[in-house]
Amino acid sequence: MMVQGQSAVLVVGAGPTGCAAGVALARAGVDVCVVDRASFPRDKTCGDAVSNEGMQLVERLGARNAVLQGPHALVRRAAAVFPDGSRVERSYDEPGYIVPRLHLDDCLRRALQASGARLIEQCRVSELVQEDGRIVGARGPELRWSAPLVIAADGHGSVGLAALGQALPRDRYLAVSTTGYYRNVSFPQGADVADHYFDDELPCGYAWIFPAVDGVSNLGVYIRADAYAAHDRKLAQLYGNFLERARDRLRDAVPVGKPRTWSLPLAPRPAPISAPGLLLAGDAGGFIDPLSGEGIWQGLYTGWLAGEVAASAAAGAGLNAALQQRYTKSCWRAIGRPSRGKARVQEGLDLIVKRKLYRSRLVRAALGFGYRHHALEMTKS
Ligand SMILES: Cc1cc2nc3c(=O)[nH]c(=O)nc-3n(C[C@H](O)[C@H](O)[C@H](O)COP(=O)(O)OP(=O)(O)OC[C@H]3O[C@@H](n4cnc5c(N)ncnc54)[C@H](O)[C@@H]3O)c2cc1C
Repeated sequence: MMVQGQSAVLVVGAGPTGCAAGVALARAGVDVCVVDRASFPRDKTCGDAVSNEGMQLVERLGARNAVLQGPHALVRRAAAVFPDGSRVERSYDEPGYIVPRLHLDDCLRRALQASGARLIEQCRVSELVQEDGRIVGARGPELRWSAPLVIAADGHGSVGLAALGQALPRDRYLAVSTTGYYRNVSFPQGADVADHYFDDELPCGYAWIFPAVDGVSNLGVYIRADAYAAHDRKLAQLYGNFLERARDRLRDAVPVGKPRTWSLPLAPRPAPISAPGLLLAGDAGGFIDPLSGEGIWQGLYTGWLAGEVAASAAAGAGLNAALQQRYTKSCWRAIGRPSRGKARVQEGLDLIVKRKLYRSRLVRAALGFGYRHHALEMTKS
């Protein structure tokens, strides 16, 4: 059935980013419609780690209680684990969370609908519509929608990139990751530790085992695309090799479902994130932390910001150059600039692994100091 209509703002995608944008707009009293090709609840390939800061933004959307009433685990400690088994650990004053995306995203979707935003599910956008150099709506096999402002929150491979004439991110602006679930993983250091394994085989990346939710743990491998391209091993092999290295922890474990692979567009994005009538947010805008691979907080943050900027545009003269600049600058301050520093930390860690410097107690003590004092955010939760 053809869906036709119009709204002051159209948001493409109802993941964390699109929900944050939609709630910000609906609360500001703006007529907003959110479309998603999926039907909820839907899963998303992810490590499922939501940092404490991420949960604070979930709370802002009014979804925290619903999330914590469903399946989740607390992360009270995190560790960087080196090839010889040595560990650099930190504990959190406020915990992080592991929340299966099937549950998290459905709670966010319900918060979106509760805010008064319209949601259209099972409706794919295939392209954004342009007129006189401005985005003025979206089209799909079963969609014709007019809106003077579109927020692209449709994740990696966004329709917003094609509208801007941009290629998909690659090299140091992209990572690839495979993740899977196992029941009965052992946790010799305690059930609330998120372990991040650094290894020669995963330059500019790491592997992880996260605390179990209802007995099932999420684990996976993550590697930057340029480092992966220089590799002679396929991702499935890197994942298999990690399972082999972690065999002590997996002795009694059984796989739940099949491993899944997806891409992560990394910050800082080297290309514009807005154009007349268009804002890119979340993965669509390439905001994932290059060091940790965290993108849920970034999606919630930039989605909300895009919603606020779009609300100002709707209340005034539209998305003018000043508002576009405000959005770009705010994203750069909160995510782009810090990500540049994170990429340097990642390169430093690579050197430490490659040269086996982690064997030195002094190096581990320095890493531990930086880690505990937030200078090295090596981990996601
Ligand atoms: C393997 C892996 C592990 C990860 N682990 C973590 C982690 O532990 N913690 C963390 O914080 N981040 C993690 N990330 C990153 C995180 O998953 C993303 O950053 C986050 O989901 C971004 O949210 P989003 O709303 O921008 O995009 P998405 O979550 O991808 O949502 C996009 C939405 O848009 C819809 N959509 C897409 N295309 C269209 C279209 N053409 N028309 C209509 N709708 C469309 C989709 O159905 C989807 O609902 C991981 C990523 C991967 C791949």
